[in-house]
Amino acid sequence: MAILNIIKAPDPRLKVVCSPLSKVDDQIRALMDDMLETMYAAPGVGLAAPQIGVNKRIIVMDVARHDEKPEPLKLVNPEVMSASDILLVREEGCLSFPQQYAEVERPETVHIRYINEESEVKELQANGLAAICIQHEIDHLDGVLLTDRLSSIKRNIILRKMKKLKKLG
Ligand SMILES: [Zn+2]
Repeated sequence: MAILNIIKAPDPRLKVVCSPLSKVDDQIRALMDDMLETMYAAPGVGLAAPQIGVNKRIIVMDVARHDEKPEPLKLVNPEVMSASDILLVREEGCLSFPQQYAEVERPETVHIRYINEESEVKELQANGLAAICIQHEIDHLDGVLLTDRLSSIKRNIILRKMKKLKKLG
């Protein structure tokens, strides 16, 4: 296992639409383990493959609280099949935008389909934080970032801060 470098915004590699996988092999399984290790070390609750420079439709996440048993999820080709009409406004962060937080409105519940590490098609109903996290990470696979969900004023504030952080190195 290895801790990978997380790409910070702004970066054109975060704006790429990722391609689906046809199957999950040992190389992908090892990559997902590295992604989880990287996410836990950051620490964060979700990580998408483009954030570590891989343009594939893979996300990992774990929204269990610190005092709970870890619940790692590895999702390949995740797709939202349906979403609730009820929306939830929640403050979101992103490992590609360190120390930046913004309120985003998203469906409270989503039903998704994905492929697990055994290449089996699975479905999952998620709500609350898990639903928010899944939607945030699927956005990454389409090159959509937290800032793309904000008003232009809020987006510019965060992007200016990110550019300053990058300069500081
Ligand atoms: Zn993110």
